[in-house]
Amino acid sequence: MKSVRIPDRKQIVGRAKGAFVGLAIGDALGATTEFMTPQEIKLQYGVHKQIIGKGWLYLKAGQVTDDTQMSICIGRAIRDSQGWNLTAVADEFANWVKGRPIDVGSTCARGIRNYILYQTLEAPPSRWSAGNGALMRMLPVALYTLGNEESLDQYVVEQAHLTHNNPLSDTACIFFGRLLHEAMMGGQLGPLLMQTKGFVNEHPDFCYDPYPGKSSAFVVDTVQTVFHFLFSTDNFEDCLIGTVNQGGDADTTGALAGMLAGALYGVEGIPKRWLKRLDSRVYSEVDALAEYLVDHSPALLSLKN
Ligand code: MN
Ligand code: MN
Repeated sequence: MKSVRIPDRKQIVGRAKGAFVGLAIGDALGATTEFMTPQEIKLQYGVHKQIIGKGWLYLKAGQVTDDTQMSICIGRAIRDSQGWNLTAVADEFANWVKGRPIDVGSTCARGIRNYILYQTLEAPPSRWSAGNGALMRMLPVALYTLGNEESLDQYVVEQAHLTHNNPLSDTACIFFGRLLHEAMMGGQLGPLLMQTKGFVNEHPDFCYDPYPGKSSAFVVDTVQTVFHFLFSTDNFEDCLIGTVNQGGDADTTGALAGMLAGALYGVEGIPKRWLKRLDSRVYSEVDALAEYLVDHSPALLSLKN
């Protein structure tokens, strides 16, 4: 077994909270500019940098969407099952859909409907399922599998295949998990960039330099956008502002940039004005789930004992 240098618990928890709170912040901030072009954003907002809600979903300031809600579903399923339980994840998704959420992606809706009707836990493989819907919700798996890459790879793909069964989506989910693990264990921007360069060499589809400038819900466009802004900035705020002003699937690119930048810079790197604006019930739930999940990561628990 590879020897693991464990940073102290406080640092891991701070980065885990940064990731989950950062995801919610990116979702709330980016929802305003979802489906807009950079030119439209510039005309309407100059630079969009406050959490004000609105957008095509007419959100309240600080309200989050499916990206955060589905992530919370996975976090709750792990907590309430006291371990990985794919059926519990599917049940959480089913309950969430039955509660008529403000937004559900079409591929997610189809997969969840097939679970409700036929108890299907794996969507059929499809080249049309290369959206970012499985990637946007995988953070709780990375938190709970901290210290164990095999469990990460298995669980992250299992949760993905509930709705999205596509190799590009799988590849992105696994690699985002690796980056999150690295960052939560104290990784810095430079080493994460080196790791990402290696990943892009192996998977040239995801090459983001030069940045193609597309930020759609296609998982390749999404990942390129997130990497471009993560690696061309050196703090949470600039990373998020750049990302959401690119428009397109801005709540999801925002959520993913927020999750990685939050894991990298910690919760203390998130601007206070954004923390104050985030829906307080969402804030307290993601904050508590982040701490719970890393505290109960089986690999970290076994290292401590
Ligand atoms: Mn959304
Ligand atoms: Mn979206």
